[in-house]
Amino acid sequence: MSTILVIGETEAGALTAATCELLGAANRLTAELGGDVALALIGAEPAAVEAAGPAGADTVYRAADASLVQYQTDAHLPLAQQIVEQDSPRVVLLAQSSMGRDLAPRLATRLGSAAAMDALALEVEGDRVRVTRSCYGGNARQVVTVKTDPQVITVRAKSQDPLEPDASRSAEIVDVAPSDADLRARVTSKDAAESEGVRLEDAEIVVSGGRGLGGPEAFGDLEQLAGVLGAAVGSSRAACDLGWYPPSQQVGLTGTVVSPTLYLAIAISGASQHMAGCGGSKNIVAINKDPDAAIFAFSRFGIVDDYKKVLPALESALKDALAG
Ligand SMILES: Cc1cc2nc3c(=O)[nH]c(=O)nc-3n(C[C@H](O)[C@H](O)[C@H](O)COP(=O)(O)OP(=O)(O)OC[C@H]3O[C@@H](n4cnc5c(N)ncnc54)[C@H](O)[C@@H]3O)c2cc1C
Repeated sequence: MSTILVIGETEAGALTAATCELLGAANRLTAELGGDVALALIGAEPAAVEAAGPAGADTVYRAADASLVQYQTDAHLPLAQQIVEQDSPRVVLLAQSSMGRDLAPRLATRLGSAAAMDALALEVEGDRVRVTRSCYGGNARQVVTVKTDPQVITVRAKSQDPLEPDASRSAEIVDVAPSDADLRARVTSKDAAESEGVRLEDAEIVVSGGRGLGGPEAFGDLEQLAGVLGAAVGSSRAACDLGWYPPSQQVGLTGTVVSPTLYLAIAISGASQHMAGCGGSKNIVAINKDPDAAIFAFSRFGIVDDYKKVLPALESALKDALAG
């Protein structure tokens, strides 16, 4: 029995960054709540199981069936429920990922509890975890606690820090088996969309452009700057709707939510629906020719000027700084 159970995810055989962040958060919470941290790995591969202890798990519930590597609601939900019932944690943490968004509310319902979604901050209050989340399209923060057990919580990527891996730490492994009745569908093949460069949701730096860029060509300049910084390129919805950049790169309420260390917003006004997707960034730097643009209220640094003047100078200064 653990205090916190993390339902983890893997990619290419390894624990995802979000899973390591959840283990970090779980360890910080159990420092106050007491007890252990368990990790459920459904469809676990050996490298991920091995990394779990050093990343902060005391116990790993391993369902190693290869057919479970791809998330499928039918197969994962009963197994997740089985693991929670076996482990009896007070808190269940999942990432606010495609899997977490699908699984958490269903799991909470099956367990007769409730789910708090998309946490940006977690704090202990008595035996409860207080969850801070964004609401009203990113214009306000809301603090909620789940009053029933287990407290099911999904957590936004990059809102929590992982632990430094500790090679001396190992986890106890508990094998769990799916029942064949749960495996009603099998993934027979998978075609991944080809993408170049850093994935938007994983990027430490995002260079994002808006309608003020004036046309699709300017996104070529942003890609060049992103290349210098090892960044991903994002876009406002206005620029995507105009066909200037692919909708897959849209940041915001109806696009991807990013929380990079640096979000460079170029010619973006800072509408609330855009900020809902990037407001959790650690540092926002904006370039906008309008000194009253809303984006400056969210920015650590702002440059008031035409981006066409700023970008070449910024790129050359960054190149010099990175070379030096
Ligand atoms: C239900 C709903 C969901 C939405 N979801 C999203 C979403 O997910 N993501 C999203 O982004 N939006 C979303 N929107 C749209 C949102 O409300 C805004 O319309 C949009 O974000 C505006 O995009 P923008 O900042 O690129 O354009 P604009 O608001 O037109 O701003 C352009 C900015 O560029 C500046 N500028 C112009 N020229 C230059 C220059 N040469 N140099 C420097 N600065 C310059 C201007 O001063 C201005 O601030 C949604 C809207 C609704 C109603």
